Amino acid sequence: MTKKILIIGAGIAGLSAGIHACRNGYDVEIFEKNSVPGGLCTSWQRKGYTVDGCIHWLVGTRPGSQFNRLWREVCAIDQMDIVNHDIFMNIEGGEGKTLSLYSDLDRLEEHLLELSPDDEGLIRKICDAGRVVAKADFPLEKPSELYKFWDMPLMLLSMMPVLRVMGHLSRVSIKEYLGELKDPFLKEALQTVMPAGYSMISLVSTLASLHSGDAGFPVGGSLNFARFLENTFLDLGGRVHYRSGVQEIIVEKNRATGLQFENGNRVSGDLVISAADLHSTVYGLLKGKYLTEKIKESFAHLPVYSSAQIALGADCDLSGEAEKIAVKMEQPVTLGHEHNRYIYLTNYAFDPTLAPAGKTLLQATLYSSYEHWKASAGEEESYRRKKEQLAERVIKAAEKRFPAIKGRLEMTDVATPVTYSRYTGVYKGAYMAWIVPPEAGRFRIPKELPGLDDFFQIGQWVEPPAGLPGSMLTGRHVVQILCSRDRKPFRAAAVS
Ligand SMILES: Cc1cc2nc3c(=O)[nH]c(=O)nc-3n(C[C@H](O)[C@H](O)[C@H](O)COP(=O)(O)OP(=O)(O)OC[C@H]3O[C@@H](n4cnc5c(N)ncnc54)[C@H](O)[C@@H]3O)c2cc1C
Repeated sequence: MTKKILIIGAGIAGLSAGIHACRNGYDVEIFEKNSVPGGLCTSWQRKGYTVDGCIHWLVGTRPGSQFNRLWREVCAIDQMDIVNHDIFMNIEGGEGKTLSLYSDLDRLEEHLLELSPDDEGLIRKICDAGRVVAKADFPLEKPSELYKFWDMPLMLLSMMPVLRVMGHLSRVSIKEYLGELKDPFLKEALQTVMPAGYSMISLVSTLASLHSGDAGFPVGGSLNFARFLENTFLDLGGRVHYRSGVQEIIVEKNRATGLQFENGNRVSGDLVISAADLHSTVYGLLKGKYLTEKIKESFAHLPVYSSAQIALGADCDLSGEAEKIAVKMEQPVTLGHEHNRYIYLTNYAFDPTLAPAGKTLLQATLYSSYEHWKASAGEEESYRRKKEQLAERVIKAAEKRFPAIKGRLEMTDVATPVTYSRYTGVYKGAYMAWIVPPEAGRFRIPKELPGLDDFFQIGQWVEPPAGLPGSMLTGRHVVQILCSRDRKPFRAAAVS
């Protein structure tokens, strides 16, 4: 008899699991509380503009790369137009100092050496590491749950050159590693590329993906990208139910047997996969009954990063202007415990589908603690005022950098960590799950909970920092585990 799988959440992890499960002969239904797919990978319409809520870079956009092969199993990524930037970001530190983060590592190396010849040793080390990682093929396809005892030594052997580089870089934070740089501007600028609490291997891997042209932007934006996965799922015969918020996972005799919805309806199945936020799953949908120490401890002690996104619609064409920049502010913008010395501005002139003809979408990103917004989220007026105040500061900074937009702004939109949390239920608006300290080594949350059968948890929290590629991979892995338990071969195929 065909097994019926119930999946909670049509984010990237849920859609990926749904696609692989359908392809492998399971009967699948996805239940999503919102009216569109994508979860955090989303966009929304404002006055004719498409505000993009997610993708800054997507790993796996280069045809033939390892993640590209995995994306091709879940969507027609090769049919999308992809934008790659020669300069991924210009970091403008004031006093005429600019670090151009070239995607090409050779150009980047040359540029960094011009900026600080005294830092040659470390600059070469970083760029060399990036080149090594760019050539590596990681053992991603097989979930660690299915490793046999011989897999590990074989893997270590095949990965030796890259592991030699990665070993050290994965145990040290970006801040600590770059702390060795002598040039203060270089030190500061390179730390703005991504949160400095991440391990250095995250930065090196990003440089590696940019170098190999594998970290582009899919034209049309994040929701459009998610729709490609939704199409695959529907084409394979999957069913997705929108506006179907799950209230509780039904458990009978320690087996997950069904779902109860917010409207009181119920559905039963043979297996439940939660691709919803981990915190809301274990504390909410399962009422805290199957918590593990690791989950409790991680939520209690590990930090998360969240951000505010400010979108501006300008009635002017900014093509030819810088596309992605981090601009140093005269006064830091403080949002809770986050002090932003830089504001990140994206000029989406490179994707004209996001704005009406002749107009441009500009977006700013600032780190922000969730608590800063949560405190006033219950009081509509004060929450709105805070949003307006932030928008005013961002507009000032944007107008200074792009004087052409002065007097031409016709749309402003502010999304806070509370917005993301309300929309998807994501814990504290966290955009990449926890920031696991590099010294913690490889960090995973088991996909199964002790004492609960026929239940799996997937998504960004189980293998942080996952982002979109990692979340997609957890959906594939869970189906590989199911196929193995059901003693059938796992079938994967590219979407044509
Ligand atoms: C601002 C921002 C920028 C980002 N930039 C990038 C980037 O550039 N590159 C990158 O790779 N990643 C990026 N990410 C991270 C990436 O978006 C996430 O890691 C990824 O989308 C997580 O996918 P997921 O499927 O695990 O979870 P989610 O996207 O959170 O999906 C969970 C789904 O479950 C649904 N749900 C929750 N509770 C229920 C319920 N009770 N009943 C029914 N449905 C429910 C939610 O509505 C949601 O659709 C960014 C994230 C943010 C917020």
